[in-house]
Amino acid sequence: MSRQNYSVECKSRKQLRFLAEKVREILDLSDRVMFPIVGLLDVFSKTFDNFSYEIVEDDQLPDDIHAETDIMSGHVTIKQSVYDGACEGNGRDRMTIAHEICHYITLCTLGFRVQRNFRKEIRPCEDPEWQAKCMAGELMISKRLTKNMDPLEIAEACGVSFDAARYQYGIFRSEEE
Ligand SMILES: [Zn+2]
Repeated sequence: MSRQNYSVECKSRKQLRFLAEKVREILDLSDRVMFPIVGLLDVFSKTFDNFSYEIVEDDQLPDDIHAETDIMSGHVTIKQSVYDGACEGNGRDRMTIAHEICHYITLCTLGFRVQRNFRKEIRPCEDPEWQAKCMAGELMISKRLTKNMDPLEIAEACGVSFDAARYQYGIFRSEEE
């Protein structure tokens, strides 16, 4: 998404986790520890009329943007290096694609209500960036499937970066206290 100030209806991590599990269930991927995120781009292209994606040369997007989703058109643009990295199993790049897909799912298929935000502060649960980050983490790292794993095991089994694995692990642990 572009970096304007948008807010969305509040969704909790619990709700986004439920949604991530639903996505896995619908795609018959409930037991797949390593979520095949790159393949989902083609599945979505075939399934949803309002989804499309495009791989562009790296210089087509600003340096600090790896990929972006136009929520009006449902069009996802991905840098070539990110797409290639994701195909090769790079955790960061896989998570980037998951993030964009989660923007699409929350805003374009489920139609979480978006509005320009003129207030100064929005709560994290109302921030589309937080929602996409949270749901992408839940989609790529299933709490259910990683119960007895440590961060290193999660990173390897789920195909995510160690940082993402450690972050998600910390969330799961904090929920058990
Ligand atoms: Zn985003």
